[in-house]
Amino acid sequence: MKATVIGCPVGHSLSPLIHNYWLKKYQVEGRYDAQEIQPGQLKEGLARLIEQGYTGFSVTIPHKQAVMDLCDVVDDTAKRIGAINCIAVDRDGRIEGLNTDWFGFTESVREAAPEFDFTSGPALVLGAGGAARAIVYGLQHAGAPKTIIANRTLDKARELAGEFGVEYIDWADRQKAAAGAGVVVNTTAAGMTGKPPLEFDVKNLKKDALVCDIVYSPLRTALLESAAAHGNMTVEGLGMLLHQARPAFERWTGVLPAVTDELRHMLLEKLKK
Ligand code: NAP
Repeated sequence: MKATVIGCPVGHSLSPLIHNYWLKKYQVEGRYDAQEIQPGQLKEGLARLIEQGYTGFSVTIPHKQAVMDLCDVVDDTAKRIGAINCIAVDRDGRIEGLNTDWFGFTESVREAAPEFDFTSGPALVLGAGGAARAIVYGLQHAGAPKTIIANRTLDKARELAGEFGVEYIDWADRQKAAAGAGVVVNTTAAGMTGKPPLEFDVKNLKKDALVCDIVYSPLRTALLESAAAHGNMTVEGLGMLLHQARPAFERWTGVLPAVTDELRHMLLEKLKK
């Protein structure tokens, strides 16, 4: 296997650590690295790497949507989500695009909060960017009875809600909507290291509501800390990152890998640096 993560920037990516750990653990011959491709250079950059023998690609910001046009086949789920985060190139050079982010999210919830039932109540999604697409799909796939999107820019919430046939509300109404939610998922970049904090008060939440943050740097965001202090179950974003990588590794190697404590520990150490 010769695989890589493509994006811009990719220097901070944890994907090489994850996939190289699994290559070693499962004794699969191969290597996984990180290749920066500038926006506007995607077509040439991808072709050059395929020419160099790469057959597996993780795709990250800003290429997740643009890469769809360069694939020979896009699987139905990636089409529905409108983004690709994994590519496999077959022996004939045929490029297949997939999306595993939604699986990463739902699996991370099942791992961290196994007792949580997605069908138990409405889901409130904060944010309407690229990541929100996979989260909304994942929530629907897991059986959430209703999904409501709140985004700072209303037009984007309206557009995403329209695509997925879900509801949207004004950003100003998010606290009110939170009171009835079975799960709240932060998909905004707010709360991430170096970004402004997420403006969200957990006081209206039902005690049995689940609170997820897909931001993983810091690991315990202010949202998760305040939700836990309020008595809510919480799910960290690192789980999504780890679990989205599993079906990608399986697609490239035939081995469905496990998320081990050792791997999680390695990532946590790297995040501390
Ligand atoms: P994106 O497409 O740029 O979207 C960013 C979203 O955040 C938009 O909805 C934006 O609202 C909102 N936002 C930004 N700053 C905000 C603020 N101060 N207050 C309220 N909303 C704010 O980014 P993305 O690809 O969706 O990624 C979003 C976050 O998810 C990032 O932190 C990323 O690291 C994380 N992520 C994690 C995983 C994982 O595996 N755990 C996977 C993918 C992404 P507007 O529309 O109003 O600008």
